[in-house]
Amino acid sequence: MQLSDRIIPTPQKLNVSEETISLGAFGKVAYRVEVSSAPFSTEKAANRLKEELKKRFGCEATADASLVITLQGGDAPEGVKNPAQGYSVKAEKEAITLTAFGEAGAYYAVTTLLQILKEEDGAFAIPAFDLLDYPDLAKRGHFVETRFGTDLMELEDWKQVVDAMVDVKENQLTVSVYGCWSMQYDKRISEYIFLPFKGYEDLKTPVYKKYYSPKKGDYVFDKVNTPMAEKDYFGQLRAYGKERGVEVVPMFNSLGHNTLIPRLYPEVSAKDENGNPSNTGFCTAEPKTYEILFDLYDQIIDRYSTPDNPIESFDIGLDEIRNEFAVDPNDITHRHNAWCQCPVCKSKTRQEIFFEHAAKLMKHLHSRGVKTVYMYNDMVVEHKTKSNPEPADHSPLLKEALAKHGLLDVACVDWWSYNDIPERLSFSDLHPELGFRSSIKPWNGYYHWSHVFHPVGNVYHMLKMAHAAGAEAKRSYSSWDNSFHRPNQLQADWSWNWNGTGTMDEAKARYVRRYFPNSIEAATTAFDLWDDVTRQTNPQDPKNTLSNRRGRIFESLVYYRYSYYIDGRDYPRNYPGELLPRLRDEAEFCADVRAMQQEAEEAAAIFEKVAKENPDSAKLALRYRYEMMLYTAICRDWTTLMDLDEMAANYAESKDEAIIAQMADLAAAQKNFRLEVITLLENTKEDYLIPSHARNQTIPMQYFTDLEAYLRNTPVAELKLDFADMRHMASETFMNLR
Ligand SMILES: [Zn+2]
Repeated sequence: MQLSDRIIPTPQKLNVSEETISLGAFGKVAYRVEVSSAPFSTEKAANRLKEELKKRFGCEATADASLVITLQGGDAPEGVKNPAQGYSVKAEKEAITLTAFGEAGAYYAVTTLLQILKEEDGAFAIPAFDLLDYPDLAKRGHFVETRFGTDLMELEDWKQVVDAMVDVKENQLTVSVYGCWSMQYDKRISEYIFLPFKGYEDLKTPVYKKYYSPKKGDYVFDKVNTPMAEKDYFGQLRAYGKERGVEVVPMFNSLGHNTLIPRLYPEVSAKDENGNPSNTGFCTAEPKTYEILFDLYDQIIDRYSTPDNPIESFDIGLDEIRNEFAVDPNDITHRHNAWCQCPVCKSKTRQEIFFEHAAKLMKHLHSRGVKTVYMYNDMVVEHKTKSNPEPADHSPLLKEALAKHGLLDVACVDWWSYNDIPERLSFSDLHPELGFRSSIKPWNGYYHWSHVFHPVGNVYHMLKMAHAAGAEAKRSYSSWDNSFHRPNQLQADWSWNWNGTGTMDEAKARYVRRYFPNSIEAATTAFDLWDDVTRQTNPQDPKNTLSNRRGRIFESLVYYRYSYYIDGRDYPRNYPGELLPRLRDEAEFCADVRAMQQEAEEAAAIFEKVAKENPDSAKLALRYRYEMMLYTAICRDWTTLMDLDEMAANYAESKDEAIIAQMADLAAAQKNFRLEVITLLENTKEDYLIPSHARNQTIPMQYFTDLEAYLRNTPVAELKLDFADMRHMASETFMNLR
């Protein structure tokens, strides 16, 4: 493998020469390590270097070896961006010299050396090289949402997230600790609070586990507490991150995505036209709102700050303040407004309310030592939606408000948009002319509990804007599943070194060379198939007649989407019957689902082969194989239903009872295929991911289980076979799972 491919992210300036430097073999060390004093601490970097080398070589360095590995401090040459994170490495026959320009740079220099150093043919050898490296963006990391999966993560799971970030030289992990969404499962509003608060003991959100476990040979029906809240380990996570150069930042949403607090404390809730609490959003004219919010913020700052690791960054969210359905468990069919309608609030514009609220929170946090407060951009530069076809841009007002309150140095605007196609993004630049601090928020795909896709286009176009605007940070919108390894790596590459990482094709090809060097052609084909199955298209391009598969999968094919309430439709939704009329009418849609199934199946088979050929990345390839098996299963649900629908029509005409038996066999086959994929899931993914993933798979599995039983056990004369509505055969288990 080329040296430049081994260094992650893509390094800035690298010259490699022909000469080879031998460092010895396992149990036989041919180097010594020297650490020179520097104007900053190199202790963590030095300890990591010594510990990791000892692990790899199985013994301590020898004091009298002629080859010396030196870790030292030095001055950054001209032109180095973010010098405290920069470093150089000079690897020559007798000396490997790591020169750091700051504490983080020392850590990254060590990371680079460890990335390069691999045992090959029983020995450790590296080429001589000269490297100067530093990141384009100062902060690089992920924002991880309070959602399915994170609600079951233990401290050890979070430590692995930090480790994965250390591997790609990222330095910030933002953890959402409070967020709410509409009703989806269990007739409950989806609410999450990940920290315990004194005096607010009822602020708790349980996790329901409901799925079929092939491993246990039984259904799992369980209710547990969120480990982060119950064990209160956020402080330990912050300390673990600090030790490795990763700042762990809390995010606590307000106004939007906020139902738990206003429901439990109705006095702070936004009010409706009649003065009743709407159970969502806050009334910003109510002093109690700020008493509670500041108390909760203060508890976070007091409990999780330490003298050597104070909370200096805080994320206040403030996205998607809406008037929406299904945010009140007692009244899901009416919209509830997160914008307060009380006389005081109604006398102000939304921008006045929003900017005053944001400034109030920022000032309080700033007075508590917080230096950077992140907030989303979408209430400032509105997103284009069906109900908002001509979005407004209030960014000059934001600038004015921040300047008025002296917060221009404190606020950092977090720009998010989640499309792959530039024309579909909600903005085309970050308004650098206004001069406020900004960070970019590409996403990594997020919906892992339903299905994983790799939004490479989004990552590329968003980071392109960030570099053009001189943004200071990349803070992805994410949830954590190692199946996002590829978009996560590309995020790290493009935020560290925009020019050197290159185009989407170049970045994707480098990823394949890094992890699947023995199957470059096959792995490339497999990823191309995956990207094709989940492609987004540009609706504004008249020449583009390909279907927007990503939207179709998400809107129509996966169960997850049917967990949401939609105005005018039954709830619980008529799943899967709701889609059948469309499938009957749209031949192109049907043909495309069959084509997607075939492509996913082919990609799964290739990844299985790639796993065998690349032992170092076998686990990763098998994970990707699983994802493609899941896509196959998702498409197969619908191709099976289309076939069943046709058979039912044939039966209605011929009254041939053999058709019913064939239909039962077909239902059984899809039930078994789903079971096979759930088995694969349990053998592939981490424990914290299983319940939410398996639930979304158990629901279709249960449908085919119910269908098979119905077809086999119902007297033929009593069968009602209309696949647009088979709710009469639904079992109690099926309904309980939803
Ligand atoms: Zn109000």
